Amino acid sequence: MDEALRTQSTYDLGQLRQLFQRGPAAVAWLDGPQHEFRFVNDSYQVLVGARDLIGKSVAQGLPELAERGFVERLDEVYATGEPYIGNEVRVPLRRLPDGAIEERVVDVVYQPVRDEWERVTGILVQATDATQRVSARAALKVSEAKFRAITNSIDQMIWSTLPDGFHDFYNQRWYEYTGVPAGSTDGSAWNGMFHEDDQKRAWAVWRHSLSTGETYHIEYRLRHRSGAYRWVLGRAQPLRDEQGRIVRWFGTCTDIQEIVEARQVLSRSRQELERQAQLRTAQLLQAEEQLRQAQKMDALGQLTGGIAHDFNNMLQGIVGALDMIKRLEASGRAGGIPRFVDMAMKSAQGAAAMTHRLLAFSRQQPLAPQRVDVKALVLSMRELVQRTAGESIPVSIELDPDLSATRCDPNQLENAILNLAINARDAMPGGGTLELRASNAALEAVPLGADAALQAGHYIRISVCDTGSGMSAEVIGRAFDPFFTTKPVGQGTGLGLSMVYGFARQSGGLATIESREGEGTTVSLLLPLFTGEDAGQPAAQESAELRPTAGARVLVVEDDEIVRTLVVDALRELDYVTHAASDGPEALRWLATPGRVDLLLTDIGLPGGLNGKDLALKARRQRPDLKVLLMTGYAQELAQAELVQDSMELIRKPFLIDVLLRRVEEMTRSAP
Ligand code: ADP
Ligand code: MG
Repeated sequence: MDEALRTQSTYDLGQLRQLFQRGPAAVAWLDGPQHEFRFVNDSYQVLVGARDLIGKSVAQGLPELAERGFVERLDEVYATGEPYIGNEVRVPLRRLPDGAIEERVVDVVYQPVRDEWERVTGILVQATDATQRVSARAALKVSEAKFRAITNSIDQMIWSTLPDGFHDFYNQRWYEYTGVPAGSTDGSAWNGMFHEDDQKRAWAVWRHSLSTGETYHIEYRLRHRSGAYRWVLGRAQPLRDEQGRIVRWFGTCTDIQEIVEARQVLSRSRQELERQAQLRTAQLLQAEEQLRQAQKMDALGQLTGGIAHDFNNMLQGIVGALDMIKRLEASGRAGGIPRFVDMAMKSAQGAAAMTHRLLAFSRQQPLAPQRVDVKALVLSMRELVQRTAGESIPVSIELDPDLSATRCDPNQLENAILNLAINARDAMPGGGTLELRASNAALEAVPLGADAALQAGHYIRISVCDTGSGMSAEVIGRAFDPFFTTKPVGQGTGLGLSMVYGFARQSGGLATIESREGEGTTVSLLLPLFTGEDAGQPAAQESAELRPTAGARVLVVEDDEIVRTLVVDALRELDYVTHAASDGPEALRWLATPGRVDLLLTDIGLPGGLNGKDLALKARRQRPDLKVLLMTGYAQELAQAELVQDSMELIRKPFLIDVLLRRVEEMTRSAP
């Protein structure tokens, strides 16, 4: 510049004007010790407000400047030849109409101009208007101060970062809270203030927000000035410019220790509540279980008491009658014997019927389900039922004309109907009417509490309806329980309905009670429809005369000595050739020796590790054509279908010798 200006004097004014006329800086060339304006450019005119300055001295042209010592400064530059550089100098420029003086802030340079002899001949003034910059900076300062004032006036800790996450601002709350020296957490040092277990997570979340611009939101433990860590909620949001670029992040930390504690208390109390509820439920269940157990014991007590009572009576009948027979025989009065034989037989049959009912209830009676024509069965029972009901109770029958067949054990069905008829009679001591009904029925929904085997669908409904005393809801609830009776001791066993129920369920059906006190009762059996082939066998012709197959060979296997002897003796009496064994292995050994055997008659429950069925299957391996008749008092695992498939037959205990002989005869007659 120095160099340029020295040669300047050789330029003429026109050239200088060209150089500076339209530049952004205000330029004036002052000449001589009086600082007379030789040239000003457009920007200078704008700065000082268009005036006619050329030829005038500064003191004349800009008196406001002269008042403030600017002329002295020009004199100094002129005298010393040292340039003056002033930054943001406040210059008074003109008097406004109201008398006030307008000021502007300028950056200014007074550059001495020399001639070829190095003497100062003038000063080149260059000024740039900095008013806007200065006021903008002042405004920024104000807004920053405002920002600080605001951030310090609230309870939350506030911080801010550069777009890359560099922390450069924390409000006072942060320093108060953490107790660390100002500036010590700038950059990324803040992370060290977090609980060790939270640092990694917080860092990851923060990095994620920085890279995606997503809001930062996290709970973590922050070290309090007390040294304790307290839960804090951290939150931050980016500030974006017009192009959407992030220019800053602003964040807050809020102490939520108390909220977290309250939350924990709440969750603890919820857990406690749940625990209490569970405990209560467990106690309730236990109490219920105890009650059930007590009821079971109660029922068992009733059961054993009931059985003992009834059995003793029946045994009394048998023992007494046998005793009488012995006495009569000893005294030669044989003529009286048949009466006592009948008595003994009746008692024994009573005992047998009772065990059947017990087994029926436990659903383990050996059933022989087959196709049953309900219409025929019900009609055939009319007389028996009427006789049971007595004269004061007329019996009517109502049958669905399209009645389908059912599949069940017909003997047990008869028993069930008879039991229901007896109950109906007992409920109508003053007379009434009894009706037997049978119809097709649809079970739309499986009743609550029924087991899974029961399915909705089509069934046969057989009902016994009376107009008797009816039952209370409580009695209905317990009527199917074994040994539940409302009848006086000696009259009711409480086994009737339980047998009916057990039979229905074992047959794949259901029993129901509808009753209203004082109005009467309908007990119904729902039994499955018969489907498929008729696998049943025609009932044995009870009346046919016995025609024993003389000489047929029967192997009798039975562990009970009395039963074994009885069976063997009865068979021998009819000229069967018999051999007796008391268990499976013994029977197998005998079967292994050569010789003809037409029939294996075996008990199912046998000692020695081989049951009757297994024995039969083993025996068949040696003698494929061997006929098998199984004896049992217990059905348990024995499925009827299996028997049919293995072509074995079954006889239920206790049986009349007569019935056994008939079955043996049928089976051996067709023997090869
Ligand atoms: P029991 O007849 O030996 O008492 P049940 O099992 O057959 O035993 O019946 C149980 C109880 O159900 C009876 O004592 C009686 O209270 C009630 N009950 C059964 N059938 C009827 C009916 N048709 N009318 C009124 N009550 C009945
Ligand atoms: Mg009864």
